[in-house]
Amino acid sequence: MQRPAILGGSPAFPEGLQFARPFVPPLDQVVARLEPSYQRGMLTNADLVREFEEAAAERLGVAHAVAVSSCTAGLMLVLRALEVQLPVVLPSFTFSASAHAVAWNGAIPRFVECDPDTFQVDPVAASSQMDGAGAILATHVFGAPCPVEAVQALAAETGVPAVFDAAHAFGALRAGQPVGGFGAAEVFSLSPTKLVVGGEGGVVATNRDDVAASVRIGRDYGNPGDYNTRFVGLNARMSEFHAAVALESLVLLDEHLVRRQDIAAAYRKAISGVAGVRAQEIDNSDVSTYKDFTVFVDESQFGLDRDSVVRALAADGIATRCYFSPPVHRQQAYAGISGPPLPITDVAASGVISLPMFADLGTETAERVAEVLVALHEHAEEVRAASAG
Ligand SMILES: *Cc1c(COP(=O)(O)O)cnc(C)c1O
Repeated sequence: MQRPAILGGSPAFPEGLQFARPFVPPLDQVVARLEPSYQRGMLTNADLVREFEEAAAERLGVAHAVAVSSCTAGLMLVLRALEVQLPVVLPSFTFSASAHAVAWNGAIPRFVECDPDTFQVDPVAASSQMDGAGAILATHVFGAPCPVEAVQALAAETGVPAVFDAAHAFGALRAGQPVGGFGAAEVFSLSPTKLVVGGEGGVVATNRDDVAASVRIGRDYGNPGDYNTRFVGLNARMSEFHAAVALESLVLLDEHLVRRQDIAAAYRKAISGVAGVRAQEIDNSDVSTYKDFTVFVDESQFGLDRDSVVRALAADGIATRCYFSPPVHRQQAYAGISGPPLPITDVAASGVISLPMFADLGTETAERVAEVLVALHEHAEEVRAASAG
């Protein structure tokens, strides 16, 4: 067993191991794809964007895929389309942009708990917060589907729309069904750390004609074409450049998904015997994109707290992120919002580490990362003593 670098051993990754790296399509194919639009002087929201929307709608199995400039803008426009102004119920264990989309619409985010094992929104906790709410917004955390049926049932019972932040989940399956068609709309991100990349960009997927129509107008300032804006929109159009990258990236999606699943399986196997480290739980009938492979470190069993593990991994050359820590309700931007305490979310956020995950990582590298975790657990006492002294 190798000695952890933080105790003077030689680093497992002397050159450093990146946390993420986009799976980019070959540049010549992107250029070939872009050329016709470019030569005709069509730079934004033209043929390539239409082509990408059609391909995305088909892949996601939805009536409409509306391309936008980012997932954040897409969420803002969906909430605007649904005319949501009352508080919106959402988990605190998500990326800040979920809540920002609510706040930019003038609605108050009402944060609720997540499940300690799946990290997904807890529908029971959410049900106690629905009084007077205008919508429920749930995230498919790390690319694994959230409990969509329970979220949709809660929305139906309370007569409000369900919206899903599907930024991580392009290609995910819920009990065999593609994520994309649930609720009033689901919104995907094409930013560089996600599964399908455009550089920047987003996709609003919906089976509702009214929502799609409103988002199409909303991404163009609220202007349906006659310059008589119907509501306060945004410039949230997708450019032809981004659509060219996204179209070629979509071609790679199936291969990308398989690679991430293989890496995740290697991680799971290699950490299964380590006390105090457990991977995000995912329903057996679901398929995750593994946008992130996130583990929870239980200090009492592992022997080290999360921050010490992060420091020790860094000493071995391994870059990590603590998604989602701090949780949104603890972030400065939301300091003015009061709500019930969220102890489960706080515990989850205090223990999570997202390990390196990208298409080219390879299963051996995942195994090597896991070996470093094993070594840290076995040297936990020494590492603690070293950092105390
Ligand atoms: C990345 C991300 C977003 C924001 O996506 P952009 O396309 O960068 O606006 C929103 N929600 C979640 C959960 C994300 O991870």
